[in-house]
Amino acid sequence: MVEGKIMPKREYPEYLKWFPQIKGIFANGCIYGEDYRKLYPKMTWQAAHAHSSPDEKRAGWICLRREGLIHNRFLLLHEVAHLIAAGHNNDYVWAYHLLSIGGTLDEFIIERNSLRIILCEDMHELVLSSMA
Ligand SMILES: [Zn+2]
Ligand SMILES: [Zn+2]
Repeated sequence: MVEGKIMPKREYPEYLKWFPQIKGIFANGCIYGEDYRKLYPKMTWQAAHAHSSPDEKRAGWICLRREGLIHNRFLLLHEVAHLIAAGHNNDYVWAYHLLSIGGTLDEFIIERNSLRIILCEDMHELVLSSMA
């Protein structure tokens, strides 16, 4: 079991330093520790998530499953867009912000029941369109 760690700013990739919305990045777990299961019972996170509700204690934090994921630009932009679009996890505001900072929706699109759906690890789903 790897110890949880607050990533020092100097270890951020350069582009991340431009987002004032990032209050911190926690690696190898969640900034809330095991409490995140109580706080987010529905969340089944795989790689990363963002604490984007403005009223929560750790608002502005991004948590990574593993430290090395900080180098996954598309993953980080995805999470940063959640912080910028705080309160809009389930709508197009998030997608708009993600695309505007150079992120992509492609890696997160699945096809289900003839719908194209963006699946997010924070448990949000955005239905893009019907494929029919
Ligand atoms: Zn977390
Ligand atoms: Zn997401």
